[in-house]
Amino acid sequence: MASLFRRVFVFLPRGIQTAILRPREPESSNCGLTKRKKEKRKTPVKATSRTRIQGLNEQRTQLGEDSCSAACTVRQLQSSPASQKGMLWLSRVMSQSHRDDNMKMTALLILCSCLMLGTLGKPQFPEQEKDPKFWNAWAQQTLNNALMLQKLNMNKANNLILFLGDGMGVPTVTAARILKGQMKGESGEETQLEMDKFPFVSLAKTYNTNAQVPDSAGTATAYLCGVKANEGTVGVSAAAVRSKCNTTEGNEVTSILKWAKDAGKSVGIVTTTRVNHATPSAAYAHCVDRDWYSDNEMPDEALQGGCKDIARQLFENIPNIDVIMGGGRKFMFPKNKTDVEYPDVAKHSGTRKDSRNLVQEWIDRMKDKRGHYVWNKKQLLSLNPNNVDYLLGLFEPSDLPYDLERNSETDPSLTEMVEVAIKILRKNPSGFYLLVEGGRIDHGHHEGKAKQALHEAVEMDRAIGRADLLTSVFDTLTVVTADHSHVFSFGGYTTRGNTIFGLAPMLSDVDQKPFTSILYGNGPGYKLVNGARENVSTINYQENNYQAQSAVPLSMETHGGEDVAVFAKGPLAHLLHGVHEQNYIPHVMAYAACIGQNRKHCTTNSGTVGLHPVVSGIVALLTVTKLLC
Ligand SMILES: [Zn+2]
Repeated sequence: MASLFRRVFVFLPRGIQTAILRPREPESSNCGLTKRKKEKRKTPVKATSRTRIQGLNEQRTQLGEDSCSAACTVRQLQSSPASQKGMLWLSRVMSQSHRDDNMKMTALLILCSCLMLGTLGKPQFPEQEKDPKFWNAWAQQTLNNALMLQKLNMNKANNLILFLGDGMGVPTVTAARILKGQMKGESGEETQLEMDKFPFVSLAKTYNTNAQVPDSAGTATAYLCGVKANEGTVGVSAAAVRSKCNTTEGNEVTSILKWAKDAGKSVGIVTTTRVNHATPSAAYAHCVDRDWYSDNEMPDEALQGGCKDIARQLFENIPNIDVIMGGGRKFMFPKNKTDVEYPDVAKHSGTRKDSRNLVQEWIDRMKDKRGHYVWNKKQLLSLNPNNVDYLLGLFEPSDLPYDLERNSETDPSLTEMVEVAIKILRKNPSGFYLLVEGGRIDHGHHEGKAKQALHEAVEMDRAIGRADLLTSVFDTLTVVTADHSHVFSFGGYTTRGNTIFGLAPMLSDVDQKPFTSILYGNGPGYKLVNGARENVSTINYQENNYQAQSAVPLSMETHGGEDVAVFAKGPLAHLLHGVHEQNYIPHVMAYAACIGQNRKHCTTNSGTVGLHPVVSGIVALLTVTKLLC
């Protein structure tokens, strides 16, 4: 009976739940800022009520205005005449029924029926959603849009853009969608992310050749080089062994960025991490260890074996990458050279043992090529992209700050970087390839800081929207995906519009404490207080750096092993369908752009219909010429 009670309870609107759990003594008038006395519990349900109320009150005291306004909303809900009547009735029923579970059950069932008939409570969702016409019209419109997709976009993709949300698993996408809506004052669930608007979605299997749950290096090799590889390695096949320098040679695999460059396209890399981090590095480096950022991080054995650090490979492997933006300055400068932005912070000084200044070398090389090096937002935004052919932007010694902590005066956002990048790259009539990484979604999750992670995801979505404004689906294939997921989840039967960082509307029926909707399977958020799970209502769980509770203690939360979504729009986007291995992605992108290994369809009449206009145009011209002659 208790479990049935719980099941019914969770489907009740939040206001009614609160009313059920409300103690019978009068409330204070200042949104419950008065603390209640602790009482000994008599029955499990009653104890639950008290614990919840006590928790709520403590939470209001801790959180001040925010939680107070939520509590006031409940108060307003309860103060409507219809609700008051209902509450009075409910309170009477409850005062008797606490002696009898059966009676309570009956009361709740009746209450549910009343709610279904709309006699109680204020709607927690837009009024229009009660009307079947609303849902039918929406679905019919979606159906019409889907029918339009039967006419496939068979054009040749002049431009390719890959947005990679590091660690952006499907639960992260959904939670980011809700957050984005809530940031606009909506309830969030019905909001559309920019990536949601992409017409084709598929799933990618993310495992590495030697790992069921992958890392960002092996996966980057898959979605950039088209070959699955071992975890921890970039731009080398699975025949290479992590950290074994002598397994590099002969096992290098090239990336779609190189295929594009070889085909005469402009190419760019934009990331919120260091530019020599796992994701971007697979675009240009061949390295058996993702951590060999500069020679300082490499073992002597590897240096003696002739292996090169990743920062060096950025400038030496693919000559003249047109746009490079992100962090990682310190790996480009000689050891102990003070940083331009943080001259007094030793840890931000240069790291290179070979004393090379890779930035100065790049500046010298680009002197006559309209190349610009920038290290802050002001310099970046003062550039006229029409006058820039090559851009190196290194905005931090290591990774860029989280978007929530970004100094908007000095640090560019991902969206701003993407805009400048596209404006520079699109000048090339042969088109471009651009890799954009929202790299710190992953870091937020590793730290158990869901709020940071989700804001990073929202910012990447904003950048996707900006790219959409600057390109066209007629000639640009845009793909949005993730390298892997995380053990991040949200649940707990939260009500419609519940803040994504909020509490589930019930207490645990095991430890009688509240819990946040967002939780991690493992990570640093595991915490015991006096030998028991922490009562989250005693802390500010909406704070930017709050670490959500996890089931297993780990100093760093781990990746997740499930598939990730692949969103696609533009020429041949429909080839990204179904469930595929992750290394399929660059094969499709290259095919669509007529670069890389599979180009027969670009020169014959047998393949892509989109190439027909060109081929048939030539055929028509030849025919007319022949006739005229
Ligand atoms: Zn990670």
